[in-house]
Amino acid sequence: MPGIYIHIPFCKHKCTYCDFTSFPDRLNFAEAYMACVYREAAARGKELEKMTFDTIYIGGGTPSVIDPNYISGLMKQLKNCFHLAKDPEVTIELNPGTVDARKIAIYKNAGINRFSVGLQSADDAMLESLGRIHTTADFLATAQLLKGENFSADVMIGLKGQSAEDVEKTIRLAHGAGAKHISMYALTPEDGTPIYTDYLNGELPDGDEVAALYDHGYKVLKELGYLRYEVSNFCLAGFGSRHNMNYWRRGEYIGLGLAASSFLGGKRFTNTLDLDEYMKCVLSGYFPVIDTEEIGEEDAKFEFLMLGLRTVFGVSAAAYKKAFGSDWREDFPAYERMKQYFEEEGDVTRIKEEYLYVQNQILTEFME
Ligand code: SF4
Repeated sequence: MPGIYIHIPFCKHKCTYCDFTSFPDRLNFAEAYMACVYREAAARGKELEKMTFDTIYIGGGTPSVIDPNYISGLMKQLKNCFHLAKDPEVTIELNPGTVDARKIAIYKNAGINRFSVGLQSADDAMLESLGRIHTTADFLATAQLLKGENFSADVMIGLKGQSAEDVEKTIRLAHGAGAKHISMYALTPEDGTPIYTDYLNGELPDGDEVAALYDHGYKVLKELGYLRYEVSNFCLAGFGSRHNMNYWRRGEYIGLGLAASSFLGGKRFTNTLDLDEYMKCVLSGYFPVIDTEEIGEEDAKFEFLMLGLRTVFGVSAAAYKKAFGSDWREDFPAYERMKQYFEEEGDVTRIKEEYLYVQNQILTEFME
């Protein structure tokens, strides 16, 4: 079922690896910005009144850095403007060091039932060099506030000087603190970010070293009872992210706010990345979209395959046929020569467990 994403572009401080649309110095715009998001929600809700949405994801930036009453106002507005399914999954991203008991109580009252916490590392020196504003102790305090809740922790691999033991320590810390879900992502050094210099200087682990960190992390996660359901996402039974599963099933979603992307009716479109332009546009009664792309059939087929094969659920031949009216193995003849990387179960094909981490390399063969 479709989802709703809302982007909150404010942060306390810019992390050294971050190229997301987020501002460390414009928090004073939060009230005006949220008023525009409410307006955009009203306009989109009218347009999409026939759709039912099953998940809401409030991401950023750092949604927990703004006054929590703006978040409860947002939830009220979404409930008024969109038709929501009976028990929607509602996630908010939190940064340790920006939450307290009052904020969590307001979020829960507003209907938020899932929390995604940016831990990244259990090493305070590494957190500092990433420009994170929190310490391990802040993470533990946040986890204490979320005791018994459905919360996820983000863990980064591929950091400067990081060892397999560091990754293990971070995962064990998240597990011990009660995380029901762990996302383990490799750092991507983006051009223009401070960490890119470390990359150019050869100070970051290379591809093989990152793969070894991933393998070790995966082994520890498995031992602790986390199931891998997507290449970077692991959960205790029953705690997978419905919102993200919708992305990987190539489901529809609407994005609200600065730089938010949407996928509706076979089109992908993105809102402006310019805060002033976003607000001007919404206040003038226009959608702040700067880029729209109609996805052709060939691309749609490849996306379907690529997204499905990132997950352990793989690709169902029947689902593919229903979507496109053809057999995916005939559409992608490269499959025949890549067969050794795949396994079959009924009509489902998935990448073998040991190759999931390198699925990108395998799937490039399908692009021809
Ligand atoms: S908290 Fe997240 S969005 Fe904000 S600067 Fe750091 S990485 Fe970027």
